[in-house]
Amino acid sequence: MHKTIICTVCPLSCNVFLELGDNDEIVSLTGNRCPRGKAYAAKEHTAPERTLTTTVKARGGIHPLLPVRTDKPIPKEMLLEAVQAVSDLEVEGPIRMGQVLIEDFLGTGSNLVASRDL
Ligand code: SF4
Repeated sequence: MHKTIICTVCPLSCNVFLELGDNDEIVSLTGNRCPRGKAYAAKEHTAPERTLTTTVKARGGIHPLLPVRTDKPIPKEMLLEAVQAVSDLEVEGPIRMGQVLIEDFLGTGSNLVASRDL
């Protein structure tokens, strides 16, 4: 079986071609122009991760919503759970950009942080 992954590490957006074995293991990996692409494609195949970016309700500022993000990528399969977890969250200013709002968010080892001042 074959799989193509577009590397997003840099703007060149290389197509990385994976040949997979019977147990979905990577048999060969080609098309990457540098080692970072190999590492990215292998990770994307075995354990894809994404940085969560969303907003939460906010009080005490001029905006009703505060943009937030995880400070490290979290497992892609947890994104829906993560969005649901922050949907009920309401924060109160003052808050500084980068301030940790939730430590070890959902046990991922990533913190939920403010993306701007409130
Ligand atoms: S493989 Fe290397 S050169 Fe190609 S997009 Fe990824 S980081 Fe950029």
